Amino acid sequence: MPDKATTGFMRSLCMGQIEQEVLFPFPVISPDQKEMLHDITGALEDLLGSHTEDFRQWDVDGDMPAEFIDQLKEFGLFSLIIPEAHGGMGLGNMAYSRTLQEVGRYDASVAVTIGAHSSIGMRGLLLFGTDEQKDRYLPKLASGELIAAFCLTEPGAGSDAAAIKTTAVRQGDHWILNGNKLWITNGGFAGFFTVFARTGTEGKHGKMTAFIVTRDMAGVSIGPHEEKMGLRASSTTTVQFDDVHIPTENVLAEPGMGFKVAMQILNSGRTGLGGGSVGGMKHLIELSTRQANERKTFGQPISSYGLVKEKIGRMVVDCYTSEAVVTMVGGLIDGGYKEYAVEAAISKVYATECLSRSADEALQIAGGNGFMREYPYERIVRDSRINRIFEGTNEILRLFIALTAINDVASQLKDLSAFMKGILNDPIKGFGVLSDYALKHAQLKTGFGGSAELHNLHEAIKPQADLFEDQTRYLAQAADRILRKHGKNIIGKQFATKRLADIMIDLFVMACTLSRVQASIDALGVEKASREIEILRVFTSDARVRIKRNFHQIDNNEDDLLKALAEDACEVERFRWDTI
Ligand SMILES: Cc1cc2nc3c(=O)[nH]c(=O)nc-3n(C[C@H](O)[C@H](O)[C@H](O)COP(=O)(O)OP(=O)(O)OC[C@H]3O[C@@H](n4cnc5c(N)ncnc54)[C@H](O)[C@@H]3O)c2cc1C
Repeated sequence: MPDKATTGFMRSLCMGQIEQEVLFPFPVISPDQKEMLHDITGALEDLLGSHTEDFRQWDVDGDMPAEFIDQLKEFGLFSLIIPEAHGGMGLGNMAYSRTLQEVGRYDASVAVTIGAHSSIGMRGLLLFGTDEQKDRYLPKLASGELIAAFCLTEPGAGSDAAAIKTTAVRQGDHWILNGNKLWITNGGFAGFFTVFARTGTEGKHGKMTAFIVTRDMAGVSIGPHEEKMGLRASSTTTVQFDDVHIPTENVLAEPGMGFKVAMQILNSGRTGLGGGSVGGMKHLIELSTRQANERKTFGQPISSYGLVKEKIGRMVVDCYTSEAVVTMVGGLIDGGYKEYAVEAAISKVYATECLSRSADEALQIAGGNGFMREYPYERIVRDSRINRIFEGTNEILRLFIALTAINDVASQLKDLSAFMKGILNDPIKGFGVLSDYALKHAQLKTGFGGSAELHNLHEAIKPQADLFEDQTRYLAQAADRILRKHGKNIIGKQFATKRLADIMIDLFVMACTLSRVQASIDALGVEKASREIEILRVFTSDARVRIKRNFHQIDNNEDDLLKALAEDACEVERFRWDTI
């Protein structure tokens, strides 16, 4: 697939340009992959449908039996994105994300076990591996003989990934690896580790390099299973490396490129987490609607009450719009676009927050039963909570989303360009994808003309398209205004940055939903697509209020007061005003 030249839909949008060709028509899964997905979905029902009670028990036990993991291997669930030539199923990103969606309907621990293997554990090998490395490892990864894990986090380095202390020192034809990794998913049974270590002394922390490490190498040891709030059946452990001798041919990409490797893995793996979140939401809608129809109060099923309908209606809107965004990002990757990091970050933030909200509301609809371990709701709330933390916390991703836009706008404002390097080197260096993507952006020649308007959308969704166009114009102005107001201090202005990110999130979700609904109108006609048009109307109407508030608060806010309260509380480390 040739690379497609685009500056990135959102980054262009922040400069007032709508690259409509990037998002329209709404991406569709190819017919052969669709057929494969039908087979997979049916077979997953057979494989996972019978384990409902087991999933509950394994959550209590905090364990997933080895025999069950063998069943996942036999099914081929570790081979999803591995090319057929290496024994895999060769699914594209859209089909992969859809498969995780199906798995996520049954159990989040299973989805994370498979997702950590494919989305992050072995993705570096797929993206950066040499032919020799791929030939050596991919067949074993496809069969599940080797399960993969991604080893970046350390006790002192989570969001600030560049602060890792694990080191690798070159000695002849080997690198000697030493260090400790924390909270590694699949650590308990993984045989293949993508490990990031500091090599060399350049820069503040020294450059980072990515290595393929296998469990049979002397000096690799695994800690005990962590007791967790959720995803209790999935394996999370420490992984320790003591004088591990890694042959030089196990370097992924080039020495010193590790940070870029880590960021690209995380960017391209985000459709997995998004897919799992959509699957979770679909399951919650099934549970909640059944519960709302069955449960009667005051002689009526609770589904007849407005306050319950409001919750279920919003769950539907959240699920539809999340699926639009996650599918779109998968489509961008499958379509050969290279600039999708901001869109992928938005899909992760949006889908994981929609899932959290849906899980909370589903539990509320179930009332007291929702709080009981006998029912699935509390487990789903516990399981879904981590999604806003791992693979980039939603706070760090919001900074990334907005600062990328600000950087692009700044690149256009020549008088401000001098301090941009300062911005790029600073606080979100851990997820400092900025430096990789943003600087070069302004110079990119895009294949698309871009325009400030959306063309050829159906009359039935014109009001929503108009709103999107209007808000886009304000977005570019707001990014410009924030930058001019705060100058190089923008890095410390996280309240403003977050508002810009939230506006960008709403606008991207709106654009993806417009695209999805337009595709349904094209395929089914307006009448049959009327429910979907209603979803678009609800989302757009809510988003309009949020966007307006965020724009307003960029200049009119009590940020300084709130900050002062936080600083005061952090100083005394307690609540000052007790009543006794
Ligand atoms: C169940 C589980 C599985 C995991 N699996 C893996 C895995 O397989 N591989 C792996 O490498 N890691 C894994 N992790 C680690 C995970 O990626 C990290 O927990 C995550 O990156 C956040 O890092 P942290 O926990 O150190 O939080 P911190 O970085 O300490 O952040 C704490 C809080 O501060 C906020 N914050 C931090 N910096 C800033 C800033 N500059 N501005 C504003 N807010 C900020 C964060 O958003 C967060 O709310 C896993 C974690 C868990 C719990």
